[in-house]
Amino acid sequence: MNMSQISTCCENSSYTQDPQSKKLYCKNHFIELIDNKVRKAINRFNMLDRNDHIGLGYSGGKDSSVLLNILVKLQNRYPSCNLTVLTIDEGIKGYRDECLELTRKIAEKYQVYHVIKSFKNIFGATLDQMVETSLEKKSSLSACAICGMLRRRALNIAAKQVNVTKIATAHNLDDEAQSILLNLLRGDSNRFIRLSRAPILKFKTLIPRIRPFVYVTEPEIVLYAYAKNLEYHSYPCPYASSAMRNNVRTFLSKMEGKRPSTLRNIVNLHDTIGQYFPKEESLKPPFLCQICGEISSYEICPICQLLDDLGIEKSLK
Ligand code: SF4
Ligand SMILES: [Zn+2]
Ligand SMILES: [Zn+2]
Repeated sequence: MNMSQISTCCENSSYTQDPQSKKLYCKNHFIELIDNKVRKAINRFNMLDRNDHIGLGYSGGKDSSVLLNILVKLQNRYPSCNLTVLTIDEGIKGYRDECLELTRKIAEKYQVYHVIKSFKNIFGATLDQMVETSLEKKSSLSACAICGMLRRRALNIAAKQVNVTKIATAHNLDDEAQSILLNLLRGDSNRFIRLSRAPILKFKTLIPRIRPFVYVTEPEIVLYAYAKNLEYHSYPCPYASSAMRNNVRTFLSKMEGKRPSTLRNIVNLHDTIGQYFPKEESLKPPFLCQICGEISSYEICPICQLLDDLGIEKSLK
């Protein structure tokens, strides 16, 4: 492709080039492009209803900071929707405590209601304490496995307490493609099926989740934050490890570099075969946990089991 064949959005100087179409975008049209990708995902998967109260899972990192900026703007189009920011403090010394200040400051800047809930308060111990006990007990669970499982539950608990009707998370196209491939590699058909991008509505104790960044790549999010001069924290979590997801992330970003559309192809394929997946109701796990009452595949849910294994007495009842 020579320069004369490359299209441009307008006369303004270019800010970035779309890796797939090679089209050049100025800053304003690039921002508009990303806003439209979010709107398209929300419409295509019916993520929002009138009067929804959105609870944004907000860590203060770049992805959730950009999503907050876009959702605040989108509120003008959905004036009957409410927005609350939900931050989970896992209890990671030298990491999360540093981010909390920034999340408070940013929520205040946008004038959105901000709820902070901690693992210590909900589960009775910080992640640091749980990891320490887990190591002492020679458990095979990694810090990230414990953290991921508990953060999902903590977000659901925080959201219920303020009557949120949809939880929005800032998972992007890279995360989506990684999750699809990871579950394929693990042979985990249940999770593979549950990765649907449409909010699942039928599980009464679980608030439906939406992922409006499903069409937006990680580099686009970084560029958006830069274009709008958004503040976010970028300290690395001390537990970020060499988990399987990191191998998949490296592999996929190399492939995307060579063939820009790899990520999109994986997600599109998952959407296409999704029409043959079992329907929502039949995916419902069969039990309500005997301890906490949450929906579960076992009589005691994995979280209550984990807390028991770690000797944490806090009851989730
Ligand atoms: S890297 Fe792991 S432990 Fe750290 S916040 Fe992420 S999931 Fe939690
Ligand atoms: Zn332009
Ligand atoms: Zn339970």
